[in-house]
Amino acid sequence: MAATTGTAGPLVPPEVVSSVFYGAAVSDTLVLLVVEVVDGTPRIAWGNEGATHLLGYGMDDLRSLSLAALVPSLRGAEVGLLLRRERSARMNLPVRTASGALVGVLVLCTPTPSGRTWTLQLVPADSLSERVLRATTEASAQRLATLTERSPVPTLLSEQGMRLAHVNDAFCNLVGLQAEQLLGTGWMATVHPDDLDGVIEQVVAVLGGRDGETRARLGRTDGTERTTVIRFAQLFTPGVGAGFVATIEDVTDRLAVEARLAHHASHDPLTGLPNRTRLAEHVAGRFRPGAGGLAVIFLDLDDLTVVNESLGHAAGDELLVEVAARLRATVRPGDLVARFGGDEFVVVCEGVDAADAVALAERIGAALALPVRLCGVDVRPHASVGVTVQTAEHCAAEDLIRDGDIAVCQAKAGGRGRITVLDQRARAEARDRLRLVAELREAIERREVTLHYQPIFRADDGTPVAVESLARWHSPLRGPISPAVFVALAEESGLIGALGLLVLDETCRQLAEWDRLLDDAAPQRANVNVSALPLDDRLQGHVLAALERHGLHPSRLSIEITESALVEDPSAAREVLVQLRDLGVSLAIDDFGTGCSSLAHLRHLPVDVLKVDRSFVAELADGHAEIASAVIALARSLDLTTVAEGVETAEQAARLADLGAGFLQGFALARPMTGRRAAAWYAASAR
Ligand code: C2E
Ligand code: CA
Ligand code: CA
Repeated sequence: MAATTGTAGPLVPPEVVSSVFYGAAVSDTLVLLVVEVVDGTPRIAWGNEGATHLLGYGMDDLRSLSLAALVPSLRGAEVGLLLRRERSARMNLPVRTASGALVGVLVLCTPTPSGRTWTLQLVPADSLSERVLRATTEASAQRLATLTERSPVPTLLSEQGMRLAHVNDAFCNLVGLQAEQLLGTGWMATVHPDDLDGVIEQVVAVLGGRDGETRARLGRTDGTERTTVIRFAQLFTPGVGAGFVATIEDVTDRLAVEARLAHHASHDPLTGLPNRTRLAEHVAGRFRPGAGGLAVIFLDLDDLTVVNESLGHAAGDELLVEVAARLRATVRPGDLVARFGGDEFVVVCEGVDAADAVALAERIGAALALPVRLCGVDVRPHASVGVTVQTAEHCAAEDLIRDGDIAVCQAKAGGRGRITVLDQRARAEARDRLRLVAELREAIERREVTLHYQPIFRADDGTPVAVESLARWHSPLRGPISPAVFVALAEESGLIGALGLLVLDETCRQLAEWDRLLDDAAPQRANVNVSALPLDDRLQGHVLAALERHGLHPSRLSIEITESALVEDPSAAREVLVQLRDLGVSLAIDDFGTGCSSLAHLRHLPVDVLKVDRSFVAELADGHAEIASAVIALARSLDLTTVAEGVETAEQAARLADLGAGFLQGFALARPMTGRRAAAWYAASAR
């Protein structure tokens, strides 16, 4: 680097100054800059046309440039050497052009008389380096164009502004047009009108220096459309200005795959209907708390199990597909039809009241009832339908869906093909029932359902020979709840299995404990009530397991089954009874006389005992002994013993003994009591 001193020239007349200045300003071979110091930083205040050409900056950009940005190698004291106040200076320095390239120039710096600004004349170090620079710039432009041309990536290239200078074959192929049709602003005509604003926004951004991308649909000459992502990057050409390179990714196929995957996750593959997940999203998207008019219609097909079992699963699938098609054809276009589960469908509609929703439910019922031909058989599908319309009580979308579910359960309980609308009262009851079920489940798990035991006596000599275990539930919140209530609840809610196991196990445990406490005075047998529902072939295993767990002989148990349980499915019930009998437990028919089984039927069942229902015992007081005596006589003729239930007076007891009843049970003889009290009671009665 060389610094030389010079002297200020002789005074020049003003006309000459202005004429020289004008020539210098418009010259494109002379490169002039004016530098001033603002807040201690030397900046370019002005540049002539030659400067914009050499450096590649626009006039405005040039004007805000600092000297340090222009001459990056100039640091600290060197700045002072160049910008001297009294003399001019000259240095060989590399200057940075707008494209980032460094060009070696001779800088001639002359201070103005005010001492606040300097004139810089840049003289390219030699003509050789100037040629090299130009060649480099052109070569790189050429390389970029070649690269673009050969690239399989559709690419657009603008050297300045929005107008395209190059477009490659890949892009021409993408849209099916010739390059000539696309150059200039022709390419914009391929962009979908709705996406054009987004594209222009990005072009403006990239010309301003911000790279970015946007999604745009491009129309093809064949009328089809491709969805693309266009990525813009700035391209600055020295001496020309800002342009851009845009690369285009065709995402049409990828989006289609993604859409298929999303569809798969939210739709049922068999019927093509939205699934439960999608239903929840749909309802959540339309649910406005406090608003109304949103209706959820739940349908539960009554026939699917029968069809599956009798005609096979392919026929069941066919039925589901047909039902889905009928539902879609029945609802309005904006309504949603979803498959909720195996045989459950849900329709969601907006802007309706309860009457509209019921009318729709009826239309659906009518559409479903037309016969479907499955494997040559005409099936008329029926559905139980639960209708819920949003009210102020629904805080969230899930509440609405849950109420729909409750409504359909109620409809189902009411019989085939029913429509149930969940109104306020029904909803409150249903919720309370749900809570009660939850409490019962907990009570069973925590063994808060306990047992009381009611002694059973021989009719001839009054000896207590057995007990009946009776379940008790004292809810901490609600007080005592009758077994008539909670046993039915357990049956409806699927808890009966768990309750049955508890009763079986606790009864056996209590028998074993009495054995230890009372020896020979312990009750010989306990009768356990078994609901109709767990009457399946697992019962034998459960009974055996409970007996073994507590080291008891099977003769210590008797199983009481209500007459109605035997009526529902006599052959299945018979099988279970045979298994139990084989095990060695005895069997009693409970509430005998209240069901409608024929007495002849009994002959074929392996039972030992009939329990005469307490309603017949009660009739004795009114002088009506006919039925009680007929039942007792019949039992004897079948070689069965009888237990008369509900004996409330000594007279009844005496009368029943006369009639030939084998055993007696009732409040007159002993009330149901806890296991501990029963132990004391048996100990006392043995003395
Ligand atoms: P159930 O099997 O007929 O039981 C006899 C019922 O008659 C018991 O009512 C008993 O307390 C009552 N009782 C006994 N002596 C008299 C009397 O002299 N007069 C009157 N009026 N009633 C008498 P509880 O305990 O309320 O049981 C009602 C029903 O609940 C039972 O009728 C049975 O069907 C069912 N249940 C009770 N515990 C169980 C159980 O552990 N499992 C099943 N599956 N059902 C049970
Ligand atoms: Ca009973
Ligand atoms: Ca009974």
